[in-house]
Amino acid sequence: MINDVTDLSPLEGTQIATMISITAFWFFSIGAALGSFLNVVVYRLPLGMTLVRTPSACPSCGQPIEMRDNIPIFGWLKLRGRCRNCAWSIPVRYPLVEFAVASLFVVLLFVELASGGANLPVREPEHYAGVVWTVWYFKYPDLMQSYFFHCLLLYLCLGSLLIVLDGKSVPKSLLWFGIIVGVVWLAIEPRLHPTLGILQSWDAPSWPHRVTSVLSGLTGLVLGGSVGCILGWTLPSPQDAPLRSALFTVLLFCGLYLGCSTVLSVTLMTLLLTALVSSIGAMLRSLNPAALATSAVIAVLIQCLTWRQLSQNKLWPSHSQPWPYHAGLLAMVIVVAILIRRQRLAVRADTLDVATP
Ligand SMILES: [Zn+2]
Repeated sequence: MINDVTDLSPLEGTQIATMISITAFWFFSIGAALGSFLNVVVYRLPLGMTLVRTPSACPSCGQPIEMRDNIPIFGWLKLRGRCRNCAWSIPVRYPLVEFAVASLFVVLLFVELASGGANLPVREPEHYAGVVWTVWYFKYPDLMQSYFFHCLLLYLCLGSLLIVLDGKSVPKSLLWFGIIVGVVWLAIEPRLHPTLGILQSWDAPSWPHRVTSVLSGLTGLVLGGSVGCILGWTLPSPQDAPLRSALFTVLLFCGLYLGCSTVLSVTLMTLLLTALVSSIGAMLRSLNPAALATSAVIAVLIQCLTWRQLSQNKLWPSHSQPWPYHAGLLAMVIVVAILIRRQRLAVRADTLDVATP
């Protein structure tokens, strides 16, 4: 893993520490800027507004936001959460989203890129790793792409979640953007799906590898989308339509970007996390629809960060289990979904009975 050079002079040690800090700050800044853009996407996309041509403006007074106030996180802190022009209270969610995306970029930088791919299954972690080798010397282009591929997956999942928490369904444009970029990227770099076991090498990927990689992505997309529909089906209420669209989108992206062998892993984690927050007994009766969608996004994050460790566990679903194991688990998920839906329908009927005199 991380460079095992032990005979560094104090000066060299300081230089490396400085490079690590600069890199972390650099990635944090990119993440914060993209988090700021995500706030724009989440607000404008469901309204059908353009994302690029109009500059950022205050949603209350419409005054364009000045350059000096448009710095992610710090802009909000400097203005103490108020518009400079009309004193409209800017929701704290804006800097929090910027901070979340920035942190995501830094955490994945260390867990995936600087570790030499220690979180990825099948792909052997690089012996010469660390920020200097992986970022500054750009030694492993496929690992760098893998890092940005997973950042994009989590970015799209977070965006979808924020949109549905605002009560709107995930826009088709966001879904298609994620699908097209995912499929094209898998065709360009087939090693993005480490479970395919395509060798790490500097050779240009061959066409059979590209076809295998795209097919793997599409299989994952179909499985993920189907399981997302099954999870969404547990929410029968018409007002839960946006959350159903989030579950569908997040599981579909998970299958496409990480491969079909991760879909059931993420599904189980989603159900376990939801059970954790709403307690097992209460889950069947009053499962919080928003908790289910939020858990799905957290589950994708955990999957990315601990993929290798999860796949080493013999009982946890991963690429190393045969397909009948996955089929059995899928059947179990369907049974759980039927039970949750029946309970939710019963609760809903009770509520309607009480409401009708
Ligand atoms: Zn304003």
